[in-house]
Amino acid sequence: MGLNGLNDIMIIYDVMCQYHVNLWDRIVNNPNLSISDKANLIMAIGLFHVHGHIDECLFRLAMSFIPGAGMVDGEILGSLWVQLNDISRSTCTTTLAHCAEVFDNHMNDSNWNKMVNIVSSVITKYRKAVVGLVDSKEYFDQLNSSAGEHMQTWQAEIREAERDQAEGNLKAMDIMAPRNPPNCPGKFFTTEVWSCHLWRCGA
Ligand SMILES: [Zn+2]
Repeated sequence: MGLNGLNDIMIIYDVMCQYHVNLWDRIVNNPNLSISDKANLIMAIGLFHVHGHIDECLFRLAMSFIPGAGMVDGEILGSLWVQLNDISRSTCTTTLAHCAEVFDNHMNDSNWNKMVNIVSSVITKYRKAVVGLVDSKEYFDQLNSSAGEHMQTWQAEIREAERDQAEGNLKAMDIMAPRNPPNCPGKFFTTEVWSCHLWRCGA
């Protein structure tokens, strides 16, 4: 892979929790691929898909929990294809071959428009992000101030977990999962466990 000196490479895939297991070995062992020893592959699942996974995938692979990752919908091409709905009337009576050609042409046009408009699109999103950062920082500071003396402990814990995550130990991020109340079973504090807590503990 020629990446002009870029070492941190984020790969976002809908089922990365399965896909990443042997990914590095397959790249290294494939005679048709090469990758720098300095390359740091950062695995992630986009926010659109990660909520369909088990709870662990959220903390281990969602971009919300990866320092430096953006949280935009850039992974989803599907939202760009909504305009294809307009050609369904003209393709519903075509032959299969004609239908495929019409769709190919419109999708190529969609991809072309995405490419030529990406700079203005990124600039628009950046300007919105600059404005949103002010509000987000204010809310974040309020939240932090309400945490009291716990904040330093929590920050130390998450920094350690993020260091482990960056070194490939994704399970370290399970520390972000809600923790169960005492005497209630279950790995995470799910809705089911919460019902149990209400029933058994009366709180
Ligand atoms: Zn998963």
